[in-house]
Amino acid sequence: MYADRILKHVESAYPQQVEFRQAVAEILHALTPLLKKEPKYEKNAILERLVEPNRQVFFKIVWADDKGKVQVNRGWRIQFNNALGPYKGGLRFHPSVNASIVKFLGFEQIFKNALTTLNMGGAKGGSDFDPKGKSDAEVMRFCQAYMDELYRHIGALKDVPAGDIGVGAREIGYLFGRYKKLVDSFEGVFTGKNLDWGGSLVRKEATGYGAVYFAQEMLEARKEGLEGKICTVSGSGNVAIYTIEKLWQVGAIPVTISDSGGCVYDKEGINLELLKEIKEVRGGRIEDYAKNKKSAVYTSVKDYKEGTNAVWSVPCFAAFPCATQNELSVLDAKILLQNGCKCVAEGANMPSSPGAMQAFLKAKICYGPSKAANAGGVAVSGLEMAQNASLHPWSFEMVDQKLRTIMRDIFANSSQTAAEFKDPTNLVLGANIAGFRRVAQAMIDQGY
Ligand code: NDP
Repeated sequence: MYADRILKHVESAYPQQVEFRQAVAEILHALTPLLKKEPKYEKNAILERLVEPNRQVFFKIVWADDKGKVQVNRGWRIQFNNALGPYKGGLRFHPSVNASIVKFLGFEQIFKNALTTLNMGGAKGGSDFDPKGKSDAEVMRFCQAYMDELYRHIGALKDVPAGDIGVGAREIGYLFGRYKKLVDSFEGVFTGKNLDWGGSLVRKEATGYGAVYFAQEMLEARKEGLEGKICTVSGSGNVAIYTIEKLWQVGAIPVTISDSGGCVYDKEGINLELLKEIKEVRGGRIEDYAKNKKSAVYTSVKDYKEGTNAVWSVPCFAAFPCATQNELSVLDAKILLQNGCKCVAEGANMPSSPGAMQAFLKAKICYGPSKAANAGGVAVSGLEMAQNASLHPWSFEMVDQKLRTIMRDIFANSSQTAAEFKDPTNLVLGANIAGFRRVAQAMIDQGY
């Protein structure tokens, strides 16, 4: 079978790239019924062409720390596919970053961007640099050195990076500033920019808000809602914070946050003001949240039960994984389901392990896979590009309304496609097929 053959090829060509193989396996599995029905994809070698990036750049970044010591990091930009528009996808700065992680993120990005219906190709980049514990001056010097290589590969109509883990407004400012100097042109080459120099309202909130909008769509289709419901959220960065903000706005009660050190359960609900003060103003850790809030209980990762993440042991109606890949194991999924969880909407990229994903699909709960549920971030990035091109900023209400509509359309498209393939609750199938069809048709139209 076509999909199996390609999967075998990827497995033997990239045995070390575990996350990339996981992402490819998920998509190829979901595409199987479509590939059987429509031979044009095999005839045009679409899968062979999709699993290899158009271009990948791997470079060293040399910079000096505050003591004058020379430091060396590794950097990547993987431009996967530009059939639908300029390459688009974030940059991740985290010590765990490697070729496999950047590739899985870039591959996912192709289909996610296609689902938004906007004109964006798929890419991703990053470095094993860790911004944690670095001074502003060190982060600036690192970003400048990163851009000294990257600038020649990007451009407003070529490749438009954005943020991801470890890359927020500060990093984007330094990266954009260096790019502008190097090419001597002020252009919309990044999204997630500061509002004063070309950023879009709602971009900061978009991924988290979008994940909640997507959960609402899934639940409304079953005549359910989030109002008054206990929700668990992992992570405490950009996506987690704005998921929590929107959950409060729709009347739900978010009760958890986490980071790589541990998790917090606050039975009164997470105090958003305190969380923002600790994370966005002080750059602190969630342990500080527990120290400042009597009702909060902090559990260190050292005390997590083997193979589990303590966030998912808190009984909830809906779960929002918003930290990182594979943060929700099959055991976590079983615990969530045993505790009555009815909805999982993925804010992070590929947070559920393959076994966890299968458990959610089998239980037929509302399960929003990341490429659909977290597409709000890149969708508003697309809207930021439109505003930059027209030199005309839009209001918060206008961008938020467009985000709401895009998330509704992604749900409708994914669920209609799932129904067409006789598996109406399977949004993994629906989202992958719907995204793939759009990219694949563009590739066929454009020749090889
Ligand atoms: P941030 O850097 O703002 O926050 C990341 C959060 O996840 C932090 O709380 C971090 O904790 C936690 N985290 C990271 N790695 C681990 C780990 N190995 N174990 C436990 N916790 C971890 O990133 P974002 O909020 O922007 O991104 C979160 C997720 O959302 C990622 O998967 C990203 O790819 C995805 N995403 C982000 C988008 C965006 O617009 N920002 C768009 C679409 C998807 P700690 O501080 O301890 O590292």
